[in-house]
Amino acid sequence: MTPSPTLCYHLAMNTLVRDVTIIPMNESELIFSGDIGIAAGKISFLGRMPQDFTPDTIIEGSGMVAMPGLVNAHTHLSMVYFRNYKDSVENLHDWLSEIWPLEDLLTAEDILPASRLGIAEMIRSGTTCFADMYLFPEATCQAVLESGIKANIGLTLFGGLVESKRRMRCRLPLVDPIMARAQGRILLDVAPHAIYTCPQDTLEYARDFAKERACRIHTHVSETLKEVQDCISEHGVSPISYLQRVGLLTPETYLAHCVHPVGDDLKLLAHSKAHIVHNPSSNCKLASGIAPLASMRDSQVGIALGTDGASSNNSLDLFHDIRLASMLSAVSTGNPIAITPYEILKMATTGGALALGRQSECGTIEIGKDADIILIDTRKPHLTPINNIFSALVYSAKSTDVDTVFCKGKVLMQNGQLTTIDTHEASESTSRHWAEILSRANRSAYQGR
Ligand SMILES: [Zn+2]
Repeated sequence: MTPSPTLCYHLAMNTLVRDVTIIPMNESELIFSGDIGIAAGKISFLGRMPQDFTPDTIIEGSGMVAMPGLVNAHTHLSMVYFRNYKDSVENLHDWLSEIWPLEDLLTAEDILPASRLGIAEMIRSGTTCFADMYLFPEATCQAVLESGIKANIGLTLFGGLVESKRRMRCRLPLVDPIMARAQGRILLDVAPHAIYTCPQDTLEYARDFAKERACRIHTHVSETLKEVQDCISEHGVSPISYLQRVGLLTPETYLAHCVHPVGDDLKLLAHSKAHIVHNPSSNCKLASGIAPLASMRDSQVGIALGTDGASSNNSLDLFHDIRLASMLSAVSTGNPIAITPYEILKMATTGGALALGRQSECGTIEIGKDADIILIDTRKPHLTPINNIFSALVYSAKSTDVDTVFCKGKVLMQNGQLTTIDTHEASESTSRHWAEILSRANRSAYQGR
């Protein structure tokens, strides 16, 4: 696809978003109206346009709300292949045993179109930054590079130390050069999958790698009661205590799920300054449980939001999870305002930026930060009247209300049209590859007889 020249902006160009309702999410001001200036990819002013600012492009913001781009802090992007596949299982562990044999058949060529498709879905629903943990990360990096989105790409470790070192040896030389071309949009993290798939020496290797590279650590923890019980049986402590013992609970760690903290787990998390990534749709769909969000907040634990993979959600639409997080908090505590709509939106923006180590560049709308901004069209029946903008965004807004998406000042979507990804081609290519994956699976099943 050749993007329309009217929709492509060079980073050096000045863009004016005129007369928009701004929700900065920085608590200095909850909401105000005015203009947003974007120059060289950054927010250059807020409020009234200064006389020395000459816009090359003007976007009318009347009827729109500008908020920070959403941060999806936990996903497995290319699991879009397994969307609605083998849903009829009883729990996470049975489901994984259905998925893993197919994952063994994936190639880097399969990952690229699926990554493009997943990124298209995320941009359309207002996400400007995500954290991924999956196979062939170099292919996902390539899709991130092309698309203009930001990502923390996890180098996934799975299995014993020899296998984990092999993965790192193979993938790192492929990922590093792409990362170098992405001008900070791609950060590399280390991602030991979970304590039940990585033995202690692999976890220690991840810890040491993170120290050497000064990168972040992304893992799953305490997702199911079975995981907690198995860990207590094997190691005598909860999964979170075990991670602390191994040295993986650090301010640079972000932990997906944490549905079942026990004992002093929340104190440990707060003390360590590790971040939790709440994945409400996945936790509901796999019947894993409801994470105690209000207790985490009360314990001063940093909280971000994620979709998890499209296979256990079954979408990458963070607006779904924003709404569900609020609903689950209400129903599980018996208190509809145990977590306020504003707090949920903080988790989806600043909470994610903090978890991914990007708080100095995104997560809020502030002068000097990257222009990672989404415009939401509120001129819709389901958003009229607004009454309370934060409630409206959490309970009434849909991802289809996202009209325009900027990342580092570049327009990735305008008037609902993607500018950097050909969605039709990504869909067709993903479907073609999925058919090939299934035929590979049939062949290997036949040969296995
Ligand atoms: Zn996950």
